[in-house]
Amino acid sequence: MGTEIWPIIKLALRKTVGEAAFTNWINPLELSLLDESMAQFNAPTKFIGDWVARNYGDAIKLEFAKQGESIDRLSFGVKAKSSAIITPKPHITPKAERTKTGSADLPGAALDPRFTFDNFVVGKPNELAHAAARRVAEGGEVSFNPLFLHGGVGLGKTHLMHAIAWEIKKRDPNARILYLSAEQFMYRFVQALRFKDTISFKEMFRSVDVLMVDDVQFIAGKSSTQEEFFHTFNALIDQNKQLIISGDRSPIDMEHLEDRIKSRLQWGLVVDVHPTDYELRLGILQSKQETQARYNSTVEISPGVLEFMAHRISSNVRVLEGALTRLYAFGSLVGRPITLEMAQESLSDILRATDRKVTIDEIIRKVTDHYGVNLTDMLSARRSRSIARPRQVAMYLSKKLTSKSLPEIGRRFGKRDHTTVIHAVKKIEELQSIDNQIANDLEVLRRMLEG
Ligand code: ADP
Ligand code: MG
Repeated sequence: MGTEIWPIIKLALRKTVGEAAFTNWINPLELSLLDESMAQFNAPTKFIGDWVARNYGDAIKLEFAKQGESIDRLSFGVKAKSSAIITPKPHITPKAERTKTGSADLPGAALDPRFTFDNFVVGKPNELAHAAARRVAEGGEVSFNPLFLHGGVGLGKTHLMHAIAWEIKKRDPNARILYLSAEQFMYRFVQALRFKDTISFKEMFRSVDVLMVDDVQFIAGKSSTQEEFFHTFNALIDQNKQLIISGDRSPIDMEHLEDRIKSRLQWGLVVDVHPTDYELRLGILQSKQETQARYNSTVEISPGVLEFMAHRISSNVRVLEGALTRLYAFGSLVGRPITLEMAQESLSDILRATDRKVTIDEIIRKVTDHYGVNLTDMLSARRSRSIARPRQVAMYLSKKLTSKSLPEIGRRFGKRDHTTVIHAVKKIEELQSIDNQIANDLEVLRRMLEG
């Protein structure tokens, strides 16, 4: 056994700890020794080593175990050359040189070359976010400052931020762009405090033309980092520098974020990236397939497979991409076209994990919205047609889309008997074949509920 296993473990950790944590903490590590039960690492600083030991120790041991290495102990040393990272004022370039060096001296995270506007597929759910990102990248007359992008995991926020950075660089190679995760921002700040070097921290951040902070929710609740973020923010806005920030929800909805920061974040433009819909997912798959096909021309995917994936894998785009990559790997192994069955087989774990679990609450909510009835009426004893029919539809959908029993469903609809539910299911099944309106309603509701 040897240290060559480390790249494999790293690859696995990248998935489990997430991109930001991986870049900050795991990637800088070097596995220097692996023996019976101990793994010894070199870390760039003691701080990083300590942090990893405390926060990611178990995750690392687990990945070793999965590779058949049972490790009880992790030890972290510091590489000699790492001192460069902690010398005071490493990031400040004299002003005169700055224009020449562009942003090469900035300590941000690397930009992913695949995350460009060209590779970004636009659909209804992300068209606003995309348009705003384009506008900011083009630096037109109207400025959206700050631009705040928010939305769930894996919906393309980071992709859009990188795309903005690439575009700005293309237009002005000297632009000083600093892109980093909020976690890195905090890490820099904590380091500056530790080494009593907050002045150069401030100078460095304030010397940029464009500052991008990804996943800002990370600093919610961390008061001194918030404070510093707020000052940096204000200083840059005052100088008319562009800020682009992302978060997992809108500023207003962020708990533990100070009110003054919330309100500052809303000064500019707040746009959300909505969950993908079927059309967008299919578009993304087709575009990725074209890219894949350039490298993997031997693999053939049968008609209907991409549609199936777009329909079933609705959680996030990252998962969707992973699934396609796996199909290609699979296809090149078996050496024949990938059929629907093969896809189902090789993606079974992903399909299981992303199977939408529709709840009765969701069904009731969607049905009341759809028919414009209110919740109290829906759950009441009222029997007028305008209320009874939507109630039956909701009961029917509860039976069809959840695994709840008839008595349980009855209880949830204002403590009704299970025979009432049976009656509702029969009634709607009957109507479905003779009443177009009902058939349409069901189709729409099903689509909404199943994502
Ligand atoms: P987020 O930052 O919102 O969690 P990412 O930007 O990291 O999500 O996106 C996750 C993955 O999905 C990336 O590989 C990204 O390229 C891809 N992706 C997301 N949305 C799109 C899109 N509209 N077109 C192409 N790829 C996308
Ligand atoms: Mg992201």
